[in-house]
Amino acid sequence: SEAELIRAQRFESLAMLAGGLSHDLRNLLQPLLLAGDSLQDYQDDPRLARLGKLVRDCGKRGLDMVQSMLSFASGARRAEQVRLGALINAFDLLMQGSVPRSVTMELAIEDPELSFEGNHTELQQCLLNLCLNAIQAMPEGGKLRIETSQKQLPEDFFLAEEQPRPGSYLCISVVDNGPGMDQAVLERLFEPFFTTKEAGTGLGLLSCQRIVASHGGVMRVDSQPGRGTRFDLHIPLDELVADDTQLDSLEGLEGAA
Ligand code: ADP
Repeated sequence: SEAELIRAQRFESLAMLAGGLSHDLRNLLQPLLLAGDSLQDYQDDPRLARLGKLVRDCGKRGLDMVQSMLSFASGARRAEQVRLGALINAFDLLMQGSVPRSVTMELAIEDPELSFEGNHTELQQCLLNLCLNAIQAMPEGGKLRIETSQKQLPEDFFLAEEQPRPGSYLCISVVDNGPGMDQAVLERLFEPFFTTKEAGTGLGLLSCQRIVASHGGVMRVDSQPGRGTRFDLHIPLDELVADDTQLDSLEGLEGAA
């Protein structure tokens, strides 16, 4: 439909903008980070060293934001055989150091030997976004749980705006018992640049949605204020039924990113 086309075009130019901007910002931030780094080691003047640390930390935060914008904009993707156990292990390793003591992380993997067509790096990025969101939502601590299971999705599982593709799916869930979200936040969740965080990019969930869609899958969120949030990623196991519109826009972006 025309509305869909407009949405896709808008999305593509947004991704290009984010990609271009990220490159420029990265070139700006890298020397800043280095300068902060060397100032931080300055022994003779503690005040300079403190300023150095500030410059470094801000530069680092900026670079992290840029990195997430770049991975959002990058279209280069390769389909491969992903083994669920390897994906979760690599992810677990990546998370070490990012999980504060006050957050307990649990893994409940039904079948680590399960293997499917997809992209390891993208899925890892997607899990990372979801888990960091959960951790940031629970500054006082809480529980973060990753569950996987195999499910048969019936035709009526799919929403009106989705192409129904009933069949066998891998379901990866990221569950937290943080503050949850109210209706106003839920409605805007996947809007580009929508964030409630001071230093947020508002691209994390959009990027997740895009990754899941490029796997031919669908994403669901269930959140209750005061109780917690659950994100379910459903990845088709039968075959990689890629969403054509997604693939087209990905191809268009490859040159730009
Ligand atoms: P960002 O993390 O940069 O804000 P996202 O697109 O990842 O961008 O998230 C958008 C918003 O969704 C967040 O600012 C936050 O308000 C809300 N959100 C996402 N995940 C959670 C969660 N697990 N618990 C509570 N709120 C969340």
